[in-house]
Amino acid sequence: MMLSLSLKAVNDMEPIYAKCNKSCGHKFYVQHFKKDKLHNSIEKTYFNCPNCGREYVCFYTDESIRKLQAKMRELHRKMKWADGDKLAQLKQEESKLKADIKNRMDTIK
Ligand SMILES: [Zn+2]
Repeated sequence: MMLSLSLKAVNDMEPIYAKCNKSCGHKFYVQHFKKDKLHNSIEKTYFNCPNCGREYVCFYTDESIRKLQAKMRELHRKMKWADGDKLAQLKQEESKLKADIKNRMDTIK
């Protein structure tokens, strides 16, 4: 749940409402996500609790995933203006893309 929430937020660049459920219980909005470069062009996307500093990793990405995420943002832009058949088609593309991203993320975790 947490993961899919933050995944959506990162894709849409919107703040998400989070709770520090592993540590102090503080509730807060995540305004921006931090990124750390790891080995092999792999990037870690995460945020910290502003109260206790506890780190929450959202996901790991590599080059190919970041390209898919860019595609996803483009798709979401198109979806804002689409309706009817066009929207249905875009939604189909979106779920394919989502599954693709998830599969790749699972392999580099
Ligand atoms: Zn905390």
